[in-house]
Amino acid sequence: MIKSKQIHNPRLVLVVDDHEINRDALEVILEEDYNIIFAENGMECMEKLQEYKDELSIVLLDLNMPEMTGYEVLEKVKKDEALKHIPIIVLTADKSAELKALEMGAADFITKPFDIPGIILARVGRIIELSEGRKLISAAEKDPLTKLYTGSFFFEYAERLFRYHKKLSLDAVVLNIEQFHIVNALNGRDFGDDILSLIGGEINRFLAESVGIACRTGADNFNIYCVGQQDYRELLRRFQSAVNDIAPNVRIHLRMGVRTCQEGVEPVILFDQARAACNVVRGDYQNPLMIYDDNMYKRELLSQRLLNDLRAAVLNKQFKVYYQPKYDIQSDPPRLASAEALIRWKHPELGMISPGDFIPLFEGNGLIGIVDSFVWQEAAHQISEWRQKYGYTLPISVNLSRTDVYDLTLVDRLISLVENSGLDYKDIKLEVTESAYTDNARVVLDVIHRLQKKGFDIEMDDFGSGYSSLNMLSEMPIDVLKMDMKFIRNIETSETDRRLVNLILDIARYLNVKVVAEGVETEGQLGILKDGRCHLAQGYYFSKPLPPEEFEKLIEKELQAGGEEF
Ligand code: C2E
Ligand code: CA
Ligand code: CA
Repeated sequence: MIKSKQIHNPRLVLVVDDHEINRDALEVILEEDYNIIFAENGMECMEKLQEYKDELSIVLLDLNMPEMTGYEVLEKVKKDEALKHIPIIVLTADKSAELKALEMGAADFITKPFDIPGIILARVGRIIELSEGRKLISAAEKDPLTKLYTGSFFFEYAERLFRYHKKLSLDAVVLNIEQFHIVNALNGRDFGDDILSLIGGEINRFLAESVGIACRTGADNFNIYCVGQQDYRELLRRFQSAVNDIAPNVRIHLRMGVRTCQEGVEPVILFDQARAACNVVRGDYQNPLMIYDDNMYKRELLSQRLLNDLRAAVLNKQFKVYYQPKYDIQSDPPRLASAEALIRWKHPELGMISPGDFIPLFEGNGLIGIVDSFVWQEAAHQISEWRQKYGYTLPISVNLSRTDVYDLTLVDRLISLVENSGLDYKDIKLEVTESAYTDNARVVLDVIHRLQKKGFDIEMDDFGSGYSSLNMLSEMPIDVLKMDMKFIRNIETSETDRRLVNLILDIARYLNVKVVAEGVETEGQLGILKDGRCHLAQGYYFSKPLPPEEFEKLIEKELQAGGEEF
């Protein structure tokens, strides 16, 4: 059974002796404090030295061995630039040999039989300290605030644990504080430091009961490499309640990502995956724990693949814009009023990829700009084409991603898009998801105000999925509210949902904006919306998003039904 103490000082010792009884005796004495490897003769010793030269802290070397004696080993080692820094303690029963060994470069000697373990441990410990310049190292080894390892030492020790204690199955656990910069800003740095040091203390207490090592990296990231736990929710709860106890009046949320031990997978990789899991639950206060699993692994591979493939996809025209109609449901029968442009990716190997799979990915790193510009261009082009073909202008709305609204060139780009394609500002409508408004309201509001002033209609997308308050709404630049699908889904069966929808319609009337109901799939839903005086509806009831060739049939049908203009 491995002891916690050994984990905390996992230095590697090479014991070289041709007698098994001596090797066993030294193992018993050293095993609690060190990782040990063995060699039975001088030749094997040289091999092990070459193999482990970067990790070995010390060699305990018997002088009298067959084939190659300890003296010969000493001589070779001291001549070898790559090995000579490794300290060697010689083991001998022969007092007279000591001086010769020391002259040949041995750091110290231990006499046989090994009857006083304390002396042996003290000598080994002292020589290692001397050779490592121990004082210097301990300064950089531990983070003074949390008393945990610093990152580079942690990963070195984790690597050693992984290599020499294969039987221990060690999991990678990443713990992080939500919005730590805000915690600091609101309560002061000293308070932030107190929290970090408290978490460090609790982790150390946990490790004293279990087996493992831990470090702090970055400001508020903790890595714990520990034997597998039954219940990580319980472990997270333990850390969370320690934080709650010292700061009962401040809300501090921890989140945790775990990657369980995988045979042959190095700790650095396990920790990358644990961190990825931890990032998935960022901001999710209801479910702050994520265990990395095969699905996540597959998703990560897919994400990486899609990121790599994006540029080729643009060049090879794998993106296609589909159009979904919006109908004016107050006229009877409903009339085609406009369309929403929705991107599709026809990947040559992966087939059709839904925007839900790649839009969030590209939003995360700014690449979404490439996709969205393409869609805007296509939409503008499509409006002109249909205008020429049918003599009418069908307005098309495009989606702005939350990162688009932070792009300083956005307003100018949209303006030149409209001007260069000879369109009117009313022809292109802009859908901005509600949560983009609430993320960083001031910046977003400013940009959207400018677009609205220019003449674009602004549709607030997914309304009801974010957290706009009523008084925020009244100040927001909005021409249309797009009611989120989740409100529509159950209106036929749920009285509450029906009331909610009617409430939203009332609010919209009060704000003097129109409402589009999204995700309308049935006649029943349509009827309820119509009765509630909802203006427009979009959804499978009318049509799925269609490629332009097929969408033209809807236009033609509309024209045949006598529609004069859209
Ligand atoms: P969204 O803007 O809310 O678009 C509506 C989504 O609902 C579309 O999914 C549409 O196909 C789907 N939908 C429409 N009617 C129904 C219905 O009756 N029932 C159900 N269950 N679903 C319906 P899609 O095309 O997969 O797009 C998903 C999301 O991806 C969009 O949500 C939008 O946020 C984003 N997206 C799509 N195209 C673009 C784009 O060009 N740029 C940006 N930034 N985002 C886009
Ligand atoms: Ca939309
Ligand atoms: Ca929507």
